Amino acid sequence: MKKIRKQTLSLLGMIFFVCMVIILICSSMLSPYPTYTSKGISSDSSKPIEEEKKQVVVIDAGHGGYDEGSMGLDGTLEKNITLSIATKVQKILEQNQIEVVMTRTSDNVSWTSDNAQDLQARLDLAANVKAQAFVSIHCNFSEVESEWVSGSEIYVNFKQPDSVKLAERINEQLASLSSQLKNREMKTESLHVIQYNTMPSIIVETGFLSNEHDLTFLKSENGQQLLAEAIAKGTLEYIANLK
Ligand SMILES: [Zn+2]
Repeated sequence: MKKIRKQTLSLLGMIFFVCMVIILICSSMLSPYPTYTSKGISSDSSKPIEEEKKQVVVIDAGHGGYDEGSMGLDGTLEKNITLSIATKVQKILEQNQIEVVMTRTSDNVSWTSDNAQDLQARLDLAANVKAQAFVSIHCNFSEVESEWVSGSEIYVNFKQPDSVKLAERINEQLASLSSQLKNREMKTESLHVIQYNTMPSIIVETGFLSNEHDLTFLKSENGQQLLAEAIAKGTLEYIANLK
């Protein structure tokens, strides 16, 4: 009896030892962050895709609040057209997994009625969110020969290579609309948001409110959608080439 009991005890001891070894091996194989292989989760990293940082783009609807911008032949206000196009751009970019920060989403603005402070507040917002691009949307106005002066154009600081790349991408898209809206290419001027920015920044002038043809296009749902698609597509191409 004693012998059998001794054998049983040593057998149980061995089983216990083997179990402990298996537990130790298994626990050493497990990383503190399990690697998921299910759809939507990175298979080669412990970090789920959902947590990866999205690219941030600031879309700036020009003017707003106290500042109406230009006024069209029929009283159309620039600030309303820019907001409408900007909102459409936001929607397309968000559908393409871009994090969009809007400088304003309505006619209520948070900054003071000082023009320089107004523009700086928009740039500060973009700097705070560490945006990869700042796209400001405006409408143009010409005091002279409004009948002949028409089309889209982009203002950019040619001393900033990344801003130029962003401008080129968007301008290519705007140029593809030339059968409906003239393209006036890229230009430079000493404008606050393209001179004092800390990230690639451009101003898209979407057309002339002083020109009858452009005004009709800018007011139309189709025209605004085409402009928004061109701006969004150019921005997405620019962002895609950053990676
Ligand atoms: Zn403007």
